[in-house]
Amino acid sequence: MHISRRNLIYGIGAGALTAAPPARAFLTRLSGPEQTTEKKLSFPIRLDKNENVYGPPESAIAAMREGLTHVNRYPETTKLLEQKLAKLHNVKAEQIVLGCGSSDVLRMAGDAFLTPGKKLIMATPSYPLLAYYAQNKKVEVVNVPLTPEGAHDLKAMLAKVDSSTGLIYICNPNNPTGTLTGRKELDEFVSKVPPDIPVLVDEAYHHYVIPSPSYAAFLEHPVEGRRIIVARTFSKIYGLAGVRIGYAVTPPEVARQLYPFWLQFAENEIGVRAAMAALDDSEHVRRTAQRTADDRQEFRNQAKARMTPTSDSQTNFILLQLDHPIDEVIAHFRKNKVLVGPHFPGLDNFLRVSLGLPEEMKEFWRVWDLLPHDNMRH
Ligand code: PLP
Repeated sequence: MHISRRNLIYGIGAGALTAAPPARAFLTRLSGPEQTTEKKLSFPIRLDKNENVYGPPESAIAAMREGLTHVNRYPETTKLLEQKLAKLHNVKAEQIVLGCGSSDVLRMAGDAFLTPGKKLIMATPSYPLLAYYAQNKKVEVVNVPLTPEGAHDLKAMLAKVDSSTGLIYICNPNNPTGTLTGRKELDEFVSKVPPDIPVLVDEAYHHYVIPSPSYAAFLEHPVEGRRIIVARTFSKIYGLAGVRIGYAVTPPEVARQLYPFWLQFAENEIGVRAAMAALDDSEHVRRTAQRTADDRQEFRNQAKARMTPTSDSQTNFILLQLDHPIDEVIAHFRKNKVLVGPHFPGLDNFLRVSLGLPEEMKEFWRVWDLLPHDNMRH
């Protein structure tokens, strides 16, 4: 995809520097009381997987410790998590399909709907996991470029829909751009897609979005009578990527189509307990979203000081325009023990950077400044 410089905006506004979050608080909580205020960086610095550097809430850590005393048993709390999620989203428990991360939800949808002769329609650049599943199954993937502003080009996607469409994938906010697709446009799109075609809306980064009239998650304003599968994860705002819990919310008949591909006991007891505890801590969600918004602003400030455009991200990662070939930039960072990227198909002149802790981002910019930038914009 080509995103022009014109379409990417510099961050604006103040306040980011004053609201520095507590560095490494999460690791300290896991490993015991803080010893010194000067924190050493631990290498490699991982800015390549959109992880939550602030970690899960205390209550989830306590729940995981408690879970350790149950690991001789097969997981028995999954039903409780399904019920809790059903209550939260105001649906029936049979509409919740748990997975080993939301990757597993995407896989189940791929197995259920991308059968021989069917095709997958999705945006590019976008989160490529479903496309990889599809390619492994020799299923055609129809890639539709995002609009220059980074939204899904829903008109162009609709034009590709026909009787061979098995599944449509919408990632909102989109990974790797962090950009949004408006809800009004999505509602119009969904109303025009034939009702038998499932639409998977991946809301992995929903909690990071700063509220605005043009954006609304499908779980907050559900659409009736359509085969919509909303995928959510505990890997991002809840800080639980390592324990692998995700879920789908979907009409009962679609859930019944996914279930044959659900792996019994795929969700582990420790993760399920952590997820339940995390759901009860809305303050942790609010605080993490705020810290991340501050971190994003600080990143934009740094990029702006270097005259380098960024994407209009609403997530815990952001795109940065490059003036070197992307593979060389990724290799340069790797040599300096900072992991960034990856190189997304079709996205050659922008680097995706996951937001790390403030001292990690300082190191990121130090390594960035070692590159001989063409116009010495800084
Ligand atoms: N969806 C999107 C958009 C993602 O970015 C990711 C991971 O980065 C996933 C799904 C999968 O996450 P997980 O399997 O950890 O829930």
